[in-house]
Amino acid sequence: MQTGKISVQTENIFPIIKKFLYSDHEIFLRELISNAVDATNKLKVLASRGDFTGELGDLTIQVAVDADAKTITITDRGIGMTAQEVEKYLNQVAFSSAQEFLEKYKDESIIGHFGLGFYSAFMVARQVEVQTLSYQDEAKGVTWTCNGEPEYTLDDNDKNDRGTSIILHVAEDSEEFLANDRIEDLLNKYCKFLPIPIQFGMRTETRMEGEGDEAKEVKEEHPNLINDVDPLWKKQPSDLSDEDYKSFYETLYPFSPEPMFWIHLNIDYPFNLTGILYFPKLNNSFEVQKNKIQLYSNQVYVTDEVKEIVPEFLTLLHGVIDSPDIPLNVSRSYLQSDANVKKINSYITKKVAEKLQELFNKDRESYESKWEDIGMFVKYGIISDEKFYEKALKFALLKNVDGKAFTIDEYKEHIKALQTDKHNKLIGLYTPDKSGFDSYLKAARSKGYDVLLMNQIIDNHFMQHLEYKLNDLTFVRVDSDTLDNLIQKDEKQESVLSEKQQEKVKELFEVALGEAKNKIQLKALSPEDHPVVITRPEFMRRMQEMQALQGMSGFAGSDDFYQVVVNTNHPLVADKLLKMRSEDKKEAFAGYLFNLARLNQNMLKGEELTKFIESSLELMKN
Ligand code: ADP
Repeated sequence: MQTGKISVQTENIFPIIKKFLYSDHEIFLRELISNAVDATNKLKVLASRGDFTGELGDLTIQVAVDADAKTITITDRGIGMTAQEVEKYLNQVAFSSAQEFLEKYKDESIIGHFGLGFYSAFMVARQVEVQTLSYQDEAKGVTWTCNGEPEYTLDDNDKNDRGTSIILHVAEDSEEFLANDRIEDLLNKYCKFLPIPIQFGMRTETRMEGEGDEAKEVKEEHPNLINDVDPLWKKQPSDLSDEDYKSFYETLYPFSPEPMFWIHLNIDYPFNLTGILYFPKLNNSFEVQKNKIQLYSNQVYVTDEVKEIVPEFLTLLHGVIDSPDIPLNVSRSYLQSDANVKKINSYITKKVAEKLQELFNKDRESYESKWEDIGMFVKYGIISDEKFYEKALKFALLKNVDGKAFTIDEYKEHIKALQTDKHNKLIGLYTPDKSGFDSYLKAARSKGYDVLLMNQIIDNHFMQHLEYKLNDLTFVRVDSDTLDNLIQKDEKQESVLSEKQQEKVKELFEVALGEAKNKIQLKALSPEDHPVVITRPEFMRRMQEMQALQGMSGFAGSDDFYQVVVNTNHPLVADKLLKMRSEDKKEAFAGYLFNLARLNQNMLKGEELTKFIESSLELMKN
């Protein structure tokens, strides 16, 4: 037996390994199994080149937990190591690269934590034992042990099966990893798609045999295989059916609703990337859905926090990205400025835009029917990504209250004739919901105007962005001003009332409105318009909504920003009101008309509403 001391330059790094990545100790399993996969792949390569002519046999990697002995064992049938190789790779290469890695990233949050390698075993083990037999002729088995000190021992053994077993003697504070469930969960998380089969013990299956009274339960033992060695994203799209993609989605996200469609990514220049991105059904909420894309490196799971790697708006997608070209042992902040990552970013954006354009061109009807969900990505992308915006202008849709969908260009054409104001701006009218603004919608319709339905949480931002980019199009909510004012034309309607009569109307309403009297505007609208209309100036309302969205107080909660437009051409104002006999009656009537307008804006609540109803009942009696 030989003992030695790993050359430690500074201090003992084992305690540092132990402390490092405290929350991510579990990655030891991925690191060790990755090594086992590498060793197995190397053997396959040697065999394919004719450098290894022995039997490959079953190459399954075995993982076993022995709770009594407190060990976790990972066994591969790969190339193994000779005593010299153990010296070189474990004592020198692996050690110094672990040391280097730790020094570099001690205090940083790194993506994936790749690169810690073999020595990550010491995050959970008080002692690590490596039993290995090289594939080479006449190789002898060796056992390396190290108990978390720089000292190690190297000893011969009589191992007769090619390959390597790593035996972790689990430390007291890591005994959680001795639970079968925990290990199986980790295997499913990190190893689900590794290219070499991985077995974790046996699994019992029960099935019924015989029929009727004869039927009995039969238990069968099967190898508990963890992984799909040939995952869908590695295959050729032309070999795959819709069903394949859907069932793969089901394996990734069990019990999720079917995805709408998907994009199969496959590129080998100027970087390597494969993957499948799915468009899930979003149902108008995007916060909850994020972090569903899994990042792999050569089929090894790395992380599901991909926001540095894919553009923010695409984190709404689900699926898998696999690329060895994404640098994994760098800090998250570095990743954002990495040139390769930027290329990957714009490649994915481009692919997504192409796919959407293709769906739009191929089957517009089905595209339109999915717009509620697709729209969330597209709008989000338009707002946050300039390149995407440019492409998306051709397939972004605007839907009106009748459910008819237009591209932006089509819509401009559609409203050009009637909804261009005197400054040559196109005025898009919209409503956040249909029922709440019914009378405003009717008014717009009676003038032949089109009204868009903008009911997604992202729509305010979306409209604002379009206004900012397009210059010739402005959006206004149907209740933000009188229609005549919204779509400014030169021709003005004359008031049927004299100046003096108008003065009188104003006075009456001032009394009726009390504190709100400075909100009154007299306008000569059409006699068909309502006698009193409450409007909310677009700009103020948007500010209010933004602040509310950001949870800011201030004027966000107040209901104070509105105008009261009195239509001096309405017969109830022009005629009936002025002809009433007593001042009291006139004031009450003006108040009543004002309250009707408030009712229409859902502004009458509580006591005020009760009062209004009571006064209506009173009115009917008379
Ligand atoms: P890396 O895998 O990044 O090279 P590691 O620290 O994980 O770094 O491993 C160092 C070296 O030890 C490997 O490159 C390999 O030569 C050797 N090694 C580790 N595990 C095995 C194994 N299961 N079979 C054969 N060689 C191994």
